[in-house]
Amino acid sequence: MGSRKKVHAFVRVRPTDDFAHEMIKYGDDNKTIDIHLKKDTRRGAVNNQQTDWSFKLDRVLHDASQDLVYEIVAKDVVSQALNGFNGTIMCYGQTGAGKTYTMTGATENYKHRGILPRALQQVFKMIEERPTHAITVRVSYLEIYNESLFDLLSTLPYVGPSVTPMTIVENPQGVFIKGLSVHLTSQEEDAFSLLFEGETNRIIASHTMNKNSSRSHSSHCDNLTSVLGVSQARSRTLSDEKYITSKINLVDLAGSERLGKSRSEGRVLKEATYINKSLSFLEQAIIALGDQKRDHIPFRQCKLTHALKDSLGGNCNMVLVTNIYGEAAQLEETLSSLRFASRMKLVTTEPAINEKYDAERMVKNLEKELALLKQELAIHDSLANRTLVNYDPMDESQIAEINSQVRRYLEGTLEEIDIINLRQIQEVFNQFRVVLSQQEQEVESALRRKYTLIDKNDYAAISAVQKAGLVDADGHLVGEPDGQGFGLGVAPFSTKPGKKSKSKKMFKEQLSSSARKEGASSPLSSKDLDVSASKTQLTPSSKDGDIKDMLMRDRETSNTEPLASDSPKEELRPPRPSTPPAKPVAFEDFKNERGSEINRIFKENKSILNERRKRASETTQRINAIKQEIDVTKEALNLQKSLREKQGEYENKGLMIIDEEEFLLILKLKDLKKQYRTEYQDLRDLRAEIQYCQHLVDQCRHRLLTEFDIWYNESFFVPEDLQMALRPGGSIRPGMMPLSKIVSLGEDDQDRFSQLQQTMLPEGPDSVSFYNAKVKMEQKIVKNHRGMEKEMQPTPVLFPGESLGQSLVGCSPWGRRVRHE
Ligand code: ADP
Ligand code: MG
Repeated sequence: MGSRKKVHAFVRVRPTDDFAHEMIKYGDDNKTIDIHLKKDTRRGAVNNQQTDWSFKLDRVLHDASQDLVYEIVAKDVVSQALNGFNGTIMCYGQTGAGKTYTMTGATENYKHRGILPRALQQVFKMIEERPTHAITVRVSYLEIYNESLFDLLSTLPYVGPSVTPMTIVENPQGVFIKGLSVHLTSQEEDAFSLLFEGETNRIIASHTMNKNSSRSHSSHCDNLTSVLGVSQARSRTLSDEKYITSKINLVDLAGSERLGKSRSEGRVLKEATYINKSLSFLEQAIIALGDQKRDHIPFRQCKLTHALKDSLGGNCNMVLVTNIYGEAAQLEETLSSLRFASRMKLVTTEPAINEKYDAERMVKNLEKELALLKQELAIHDSLANRTLVNYDPMDESQIAEINSQVRRYLEGTLEEIDIINLRQIQEVFNQFRVVLSQQEQEVESALRRKYTLIDKNDYAAISAVQKAGLVDADGHLVGEPDGQGFGLGVAPFSTKPGKKSKSKKMFKEQLSSSARKEGASSPLSSKDLDVSASKTQLTPSSKDGDIKDMLMRDRETSNTEPLASDSPKEELRPPRPSTPPAKPVAFEDFKNERGSEINRIFKENKSILNERRKRASETTQRINAIKQEIDVTKEALNLQKSLREKQGEYENKGLMIIDEEEFLLILKLKDLKKQYRTEYQDLRDLRAEIQYCQHLVDQCRHRLLTEFDIWYNESFFVPEDLQMALRPGGSIRPGMMPLSKIVSLGEDDQDRFSQLQQTMLPEGPDSVSFYNAKVKMEQKIVKNHRGMEKEMQPTPVLFPGESLGQSLVGCSPWGRRVRHE
């Protein structure tokens, strides 16, 4: 197996009384055949025409009996087939040279029977000699004529008409012909009946075809016949799931004569074309197969080579018999036949056994073995005094029990986990993994709830924190004498400072107001941070550096000394930390909580914008490509024009006559220009969309920042009494003026503010717009702050100065085009 083997090529010479002794000479080794051609006298004394050829083959068969031919040519191939090797035997040669005689033989004379009946006989004889094997034999008989497939056994009463025309199908197992009848044959006699049936049909078909053919003189030159003997061998012992298959293809090719044979004398050296086209494709395939450098073999060019794909080369034992005439008159065809034979000799195949597995049988065998092993185990257990151990796969409750054992073991309430069997050990490890990953997740989400975690590698965020003054240049928390590395944990306003929790154990101490006051809080060591964020490396969720920068600039507000916060309504608003968090940190909180909706819309708009930008750049690229092509086409057209002008122009009734090439170029140019226009229009539309989206993104950013400002001030700076007024049902709609402004109002201002509240607001809701307009003059106003939550839920969102029709997602003025896709 695995070694390459050359194709065996034999020559059989048809016996004749008129043998050309001076021209054809056999070597003593029975392997060489020399051809000598007399000089073509008409060409004169001096010509370089070759006159001598020598061909070396595997055997030259002259005056050989059918017996001997079978012995030398076919016997090995057939016996190898019974061992699982595919085999192909092919007869090649000009019409009348003895292909059919060699392959089928004279059916009326037993002694003269050919390879085909002898092969069938050998197969059945060998089956008889192997009583331990269950071998089945299947026979098919196919003819290819003019690229059509004919089933020569379709006339058998039990075959029935083929509904679909036959097709050649390739699958991993090889090539087979769909629609070709396959006949299970259990004895020699049945096989012979099939052979005779097929032969009869072949002769009938051959007469019909020749009658209809314009080349009726060539006696049925366009045929190929093959018998497919598929044998499957299988051992009779039930436990054997392995079996082998093989097939033998016996091929009687069409006549190989070439065109122009009748005027042949001067054409001896020329390679004339085959009358049968499929033979020239066969020759091309053979040449390709013989060339080691070629990796593509043109098998699919015609039905013949396609059907024989895995029988030519491949993994089969292959034999070629070249049938030739011995007469001088046929020397030209004889030469080309011998050339074909030497080409075939270059082809190598890699015979291999077709081994297969019977999956069903294999499963049955494995089940049996499994049952046996279980019994064996049970015996071992009872000998070792072990109570009944279950070796079956575990069910859910058993797995849950193991999970609880693992948990208890980790908590320390279970001393050890008893080992029962391998399956249980594996499940214990499994559950360790499950519990571990659950705990990891719990820790991480606990951290996320409590802290804003900054990636140690995110230098931008770190420098932001440094700027904010929470850590010094070395990454130490401000006020911390011996912190190692940086890390930051700021309790958001929603967390009760100093609240004891389990995670506190992991973090030496959290940054709480009390701890800060005592100056005893230590920063999270980098190690601690790694534990919490090793996988996810929690980073600020926003990539909008511009916003971050803006916040940095705004940072000073967070240094403002916080106001007392003895809120009477603890349950509504959690107590605020005595130290406000840094703005960048608080911003992250804001984006996850109150600002999540606007942040989401901001991001959505940004991604729409990016998508449009990407599309615009793609369109630009396409436009450039089209432009280039237009230029090239124009140049070609100009060339054509100048050529036409040079060669003289034709006119017909005042119309210029141009040639096809120029016409096609004009059409192409027209088409390109059209494409250019469409793409350009698209680009213009896209640019407009981009501009619009950019506007929306800017608005969103502004909105996000303003909302954040309000929230930040409200959460950390606005005095409680003012907040009361800002609450739902309170007298002021928050957002009517930035709270920073409110906070920074002097006492006089605050008085005036209260007065305004008292005078304006009782006038009813209408006064709000009036009030708004007034304040707008000096302050940036964000409307609808109070109503924001309500409006946020369903997109669209209204922005200052927008009407519903202009709102962003889903309801853009362009409807479909700005929708998030
Ligand atoms: P092909 O199939 O190549 O066209 P055939 O096998 O039909 O040629 O042979 C043409 C004729 O020559 C047939 O009548 C056949 O019996 C005869 N013939 C060919 N080869 C031999 C041979 N080796 N011995 C005796 N007769 C032969
Ligand atoms: Mg024939």
